[in-house]
Amino acid sequence: MRCVICTDLFDTGIGIVSTQCGHVFHSKCLFKWIDRSKTCPECRGPVSSKNVSKLYFSFAPDDDLNTAHLENDMCTLKAKLREKDMELESSRKKIEELRLHAANFEKILHIMHQKEFELQVELYDTKQNLKDLANLETKLQKLKQ
Ligand SMILES: [Zn+2]
Ligand SMILES: [Zn+2]
Repeated sequence: MRCVICTDLFDTGIGIVSTQCGHVFHSKCLFKWIDRSKTCPECRGPVSSKNVSKLYFSFAPDDDLNTAHLENDMCTLKAKLREKDMELESSRKKIEELRLHAANFEKILHIMHQKEFELQVELYDTKQNLKDLANLETKLQKLKQ
């Protein structure tokens, strides 16, 4: 923002005034102007020293402070976001690991079931063989008699 009378910036936030029409100037510039003219240098509306109000904003330092605060907040938020991303990534890895483990267990379980089945078949065969053997033995006993 600039004062249209002297074309300088309102850099300090001090010594700034507003006219009735709402235009803003350096107080020293405007009072010098009013000495010569009773119209606003911007809009040519009527101005008088009675209707000039002082403005007390200190926008420059506040803005800097706010920007610094916001940048700080952004930094903190970004850091938090990165942390959460890393947590999510490690959680994903753990889930993937667990899935692999589960798949391995499934395989092992399948193999065990197969072994169990094979053993049952073997057991049946052995029992059958024992029966045959017993039959042979009775036959042998009968032959001996
Ligand atoms: Zn000025
Ligand atoms: Zn004006």
